[in-house]
Amino acid sequence: MHQPIRKVLIANRGEIALRIMRTCKDMGIATVAVYSEADRLLPFVAYADEAICIGPAASAESYLRVDKLIAAAQQTGADAIHPGYGFLSEKEALPEACAAAGIRFIGPSAHAISIMGNKVSAKDAVRAFGVELVPGSEGKVTDPAEALAISEKIGFPVLVKAAAGGGGKGMRVVHQADGFADEMAMAQNEAGGAFGDASVFIEKYVLNPKHIEVQILADKFGNTVYLYERECSVQRRHQKVVEEAPSPVVDETLRRRLGEAAVRVAQSCRYEGAGTVEFIMDPDKNFYFLEMNTRLQVEHPVTEMVTGLDLVELQIRIAQGEKLPFAQEDLSIRGWAIEARVYAEDPRENFLPSPARLDRYRAPQGPGIRVDDGFAEGLEIPVFYDPMISKLIAYGQTRQQAIARLRRAIAEYEIAGPGHNLPFLEFILGHEEFVSGRFDTGFIDKFYKPELLPANPAPENLAAAAALAAYLQAEATPTPAQAEANPPMSAWRMRRS
Ligand code: ADP
Ligand code: ADP
Ligand code: MG
Repeated sequence: MHQPIRKVLIANRGEIALRIMRTCKDMGIATVAVYSEADRLLPFVAYADEAICIGPAASAESYLRVDKLIAAAQQTGADAIHPGYGFLSEKEALPEACAAAGIRFIGPSAHAISIMGNKVSAKDAVRAFGVELVPGSEGKVTDPAEALAISEKIGFPVLVKAAAGGGGKGMRVVHQADGFADEMAMAQNEAGGAFGDASVFIEKYVLNPKHIEVQILADKFGNTVYLYERECSVQRRHQKVVEEAPSPVVDETLRRRLGEAAVRVAQSCRYEGAGTVEFIMDPDKNFYFLEMNTRLQVEHPVTEMVTGLDLVELQIRIAQGEKLPFAQEDLSIRGWAIEARVYAEDPRENFLPSPARLDRYRAPQGPGIRVDDGFAEGLEIPVFYDPMISKLIAYGQTRQQAIARLRRAIAEYEIAGPGHNLPFLEFILGHEEFVSGRFDTGFIDKFYKPELLPANPAPENLAAAAALAAYLQAEATPTPAQAEANPPMSAWRMRRS
């Protein structure tokens, strides 16, 4: 049954391509990078044992072309494909094409992807497995009068959600019966435009919720374990910005209930590989199934830090036909990990992407810090893809230590050229609501205003400011009381453009 994988083609780019290749190297597995013309100079291309250009910058002509990926695998003799996240990772077309070509897909079956890739069919599957669902319509809605009746029954506000939605898009909050049909038509239009499928369904809009998700792993022999929860409640536009493991509000009993619910979700589609089951949790800690992501998650490193496991290694071992090397009772959590997504976007201008050349790039280091990045100084961040620069992850024995280390790393990080969100991340990590652990998904909307960030220094003042910062740091080591009354400006505030 055990069939070793010798060469993996990574059907992705940037930090996640590098991260996957590193584990392949640890395991003695050769790697193939595929890249678009816009990514030619990126580190993941140089890192691979072999690299093949698969087309122009536009994803639709490169990273989303199943035919080109299969051809590249055949040309290089790769015996497996890892999809990473995003792009084709949740499209059943890739595992289907792999099966037809005799190439292993490092991920779940096309069957599991097709069930979980649609929020309506996912709910249908898990309903029979005793998993709590957010109150709402049973299945998709087409008739506005019927949808309104359901909404009135569960009570406003409700969400009109795209069945095929993802990436925080395709959701509309509706607060009242008045104008309901128009809102629903708009949601259907948006869903059709963004996902090529106008189906929508109704969900109660849970107030002041936390986003809690559970990492699961399943082998081909029906063994499924949970690797505990991640909390991802710090979001802008329903997209995650800061994630941590464990959650500050989950105790042992709740942790087991979440884990067992997630395992039932995985069993409902006979899942294989690594996957994430997402729940929304209300202030009374009732939790409801939202969706399952049938792939490696962006924020998987925080789980790796607190479990000591390498999720990509386990994905590969499962794809090789190995049994899970542990049972649930062998697993435990140690310490705390927090990830911050560093984006080339302007937090002062409504998070507008601002990719540009990285004139200066120095990632932080030191105790407890992991940086998963995909760029280097002097490189251009392409405008064609997600503007994430890196993931900055801090580990500590306690949450407090993880926060302190992450703030230290943010202060050390040097990025010039693109606009970036480091000041915004420092705002979050330093906010008492975040520190308290009480925050919910409304945290940023409730507490963040661009005026709260330090002003951007003018470029011509940068050299003087850097000199002043160095002077101040050397000159004044304030007493704790002074520091509190008058916090020194951290290096990045002075240095950045
Ligand atoms: P995850 O579910 O892994 O935490 P997200 O929910 O942030 O990640 O995003 C879902 C998927 O959509 C990810 O696989 C990510 O690569 C992709 N994605 C996120 N933001 C964008 C974007 N702006 N454009 C295209 N794809 C995106
Ligand atoms: P996506 O596929 O875009 O990730 P999700 O269903 O996972 O969609 O929802 C993304 C985010 O939107 C959640 O993390 C949460 O912040 C918010 N959200 C989704 N559904 C609800 C709901 N029923 N009530 C409140 N917030 C929700
Ligand atoms: Mg989601």
